[in-house]
Amino acid sequence: MEAAKPAMFYNRMEDLKVHCYLCPHNCTINPGRFGVCRARKNIDGDLHSLNYGKISSIALDPIEKKPLYRFKGGSKILSIGTFGCNLKCSFCQNWVIAHDEPKLYDVTSEDIVNKAKELVPKGNIGIAYTYNEPSVWYEFVYDTAVLARKEGLSNVLVTNGFIGKEALLTLLPYIDAMNIDVKAYTASFYKDICGGVLKNVKETVEIAAKKCHVEVTTLIIPTLNDGLEEISQLAKWLSTISKDIPLHLSRYFPNYKVQDIPPTPKETLYKAREEAQKYLDYVYLGNV
Ligand code: SF4
Repeated sequence: MEAAKPAMFYNRMEDLKVHCYLCPHNCTINPGRFGVCRARKNIDGDLHSLNYGKISSIALDPIEKKPLYRFKGGSKILSIGTFGCNLKCSFCQNWVIAHDEPKLYDVTSEDIVNKAKELVPKGNIGIAYTYNEPSVWYEFVYDTAVLARKEGLSNVLVTNGFIGKEALLTLLPYIDAMNIDVKAYTASFYKDICGGVLKNVKETVEIAAKKCHVEVTTLIIPTLNDGLEEISQLAKWLSTISKDIPLHLSRYFPNYKVQDIPPTPKETLYKAREEAQKYLDYVYLGNV
């Protein structure tokens, strides 16, 4: 399944090692080895994207399913995903394609853009890069988004926001809307449960909100990130960027490695919404 697509955003190092700076993990990768995301491999001293032109899922979804509630409401969007992720959230709601080995199909950017155009009469407005983390599919997303933009289609990213600044700024001119997961508002949650860094995700939200339409999703997990003080801080910070940023508070169900925490009580979500509404104009509940 190895595609030979040279990767973007890496440097060659001595002893045929490479340094990838596509995301804040900044992996140093020995020859023959993979990055944390499993989607990039050092082949003889050069970094390659392994998921270029490989899709695991494709569907025409309502835009509200991304979720985007305040961007081209009532429309549909051709949604595609591949495999790989640069975070390791133990509660992952999409683990089969993020962390397992899903069945893959070969496609080109032209195939996807042509399919998207074919579906315009059915309400399609463009392409959403979703299901798994699109930043670790960067080269294919970039090529497809550039082509889609030329054809007058919209591009949507559904992302964990854990992406390097240079890569983000290079892609943003082609992106119309993003839903960014802010998985919690504590550094310890990101470090211990996701293997990521909150500060980098916050920076992505702050940069992206200046360039395209942004909505934010937080999966509320009992005992891990459901404290009202934490919700309050998250909403307060978002309001400093813009009170108009929609916040989706989503209900958690047991998944992947977390089976011992029951689904989020609806009452918790109602209270969280009430708290967030003190600072933000648009707060929605998901999966209730
Ligand atoms: S994109 Fe993958 S290889 Fe590159 S720094 Fe991030 S986890 Fe490492």
